[in-house]
Formats: sequence, C-alpha cells, structure tokens
Amino acid sequence: MKPIIGIDIGGTKISICLAKKDGAILEKKELPTRLRADAKTSIKEIIDTVNLILFQHRLSPNDIVGIGVSVPGAVSPEKGVIPESPNLPGWKGVRIKDILRKKFRRPVFVNNDANASALAEKLFGIGGKVENFVYVTVSTGIGSGIILSGKLLNGASFSAGEIGHTTIIPGGPQCNCGKRGCLEALSSGTAIAAQAKRMMEAGKFSELGSYKAKPGNGRLSAEIVADAAREGDPLAVQIMRNAGHFLGIGLANVINILNPEIVVLGGGVMKAGDLVWKSMEQAIKREAWPGPLKVCKIMRSKLGEHCGDLGAISLVLMEQ
Ligand SMILES: [Zn+2]
Repeated sequence: MKPIIGIDIGGTKISICLAKKDGAILEKKELPTRLRADAKTSIKEIIDTVNLILFQHRLSPNDIVGIGVSVPGAVSPEKGVIPESPNLPGWKGVRIKDILRKKFRRPVFVNNDANASALAEKLFGIGGKVENFVYVTVSTGIGSGIILSGKLLNGASFSAGEIGHTTIIPGGPQCNCGKRGCLEALSSGTAIAAQAKRMMEAGKFSELGSYKAKPGNGRLSAEIVADAAREGDPLAVQIMRNAGHFLGIGLANVINILNPEIVVLGGGVMKAGDLVWKSMEQAIKREAWPGPLKVCKIMRSKLGEHCGDLGAISLVLMEQ
C-alpha cells in the first residue's frame, strides 16, 4: 500500500510525517506553530514541508494514499475548517481541508487530535478487537476520543469527548474555557503548575522554589512539580495527588456514562509516575459504579512519542 502523510497541528508545534500503513514512520519534520496573523505563513510552511518530504522520498502526490490532519478543538470532519481554539489563536476559519486537497489533489481527512489518537489506539495500540473504549490525554489540556461499538463518536457539533471541560468542582479554579472547576483546571499540566504557583505565593512551605532554577526557562512547570514530588517535596506530593484524585473523579463519570471496556491514558502528566496514578485509581474505585468498573481496564497508552503522528495517519487509514 502507498504511504500516507500525517499532519498534527498543535499549539506549539506542527509535526508532519510520511508513514507506512503499519505505522512505521519513514520521515518526520517539525515546524513551530505560528500564532495569530502568521497562520498563513504556517500553512505555506506545511505545504513546503510536505513537498520537501515527497521530494526526498522521490514521490509525487499521486504516490500517497491521502493526508490526515489532526487539530485541537471541535472540528467538522466534513468541512475541515479549523475551529476557534484557545490553543490556536488566529487559525479560526482556516479551510485546511480545501487548501490541502486543492494543492495535492489527494483525499484529506481532518479531525480533532484526541479523536485521532483514539483511532491510533484502535489501529496501533490496544487493538481493533476492543469495540468500546475511551482514550484520554492528560497534558497541557485534557481531552478524549470515544470509540463506541467500534465507531468514533463525533457528536452533533463535533465536541464529543471534551472530558476536560466537565465540571468537577462548581465554582472551582478558573479554566481556559471561561468556566470554573473544569477537570482541565484541576488535573492538567497547566493546572498542576498553576496550583503550585498559587500555593507557594500563599506562603506554603516547599522546596519547589529551588527547582525553579532548573532547565525550562525558570518557569514552574508540571514536570518540575512532578520531579519535586518524586524527590519527596511535601507540597509537590500533595499537588500531584490532588491532580490524580480529580482525574479519577472525571474518569469515574466517564466509566458510569459510557461503560467502556478500556480507558487508555496518554499525555505528559501520566508519565509523572505513581503518585498521580494511585490517587486516580483510588478515586475511580470510590466513585465509579461497581458494575461498569468491574469490566473496565485502566491502562497506560503505549503509543509513545509518535502518538500525534499515528493519530494523523489513522484518520486516513480508517477511511480505507
Ligand atoms: Zn473548561
């Protein structure tokens, strides 16, 4: 089978790959995401990079099956127009599907990034035999892709799976979406860093201050909090446990609503170690109904660093 082009558009970088049907990545290039007025420049760079990859592999556009594009936010797979998203300011209304289709004259498939990752799990991760599962990514934000009866759930206006914006604490911490107390405002990487900053400013004792000098331009990040927690800093431990606890409540709701066979977890925060995982499991056990909990496995994603690329190419493979 011919190879596939995958384009994963994220808030900080755009990853473009050429891959085989079995998920082997033949080539991968990354571009910085230009925000606001520069979206047009980014589109030109995407096209140039696809052309370069094709040239380097002595391929013409006709030699590829198609192009898969994953983007943040609630995108219509049919229209393929980039929706409003806090992660991609200035990109709203970019007709990415039409632009790429006209340029390369190959089929172009567009979907949300978490949905794309769920499809990648089906093809390259937990496997096609699982008919009902939810892929959840806990990273800068929190999103999910839902596969029910073997099919991806898009929803009436393509926002199905936005688990990050389910309310966990009414009136709780401010979320990027404008609401308060969303799961994303409690358990995402952004929330972990924000909580550490808030608590230290409130005068809580912590060694976290000394970690600020570590690489990462001095900003307090979720990785720094996770490192400090691993080394036993009591405040960092508490923050990571809290993040896991609220994540568990969110996942228990998912288990009660959807009755999945598997909940598979990916994203940077899930690499933080057992602190998050254990308190998450405890909360799930306490909050989920025993019936659906009994049949549900909670697993870590094995897709690894190529999760975004595999997601983008899966959008093409699922249509073949
Ligand atoms: Zn929210």
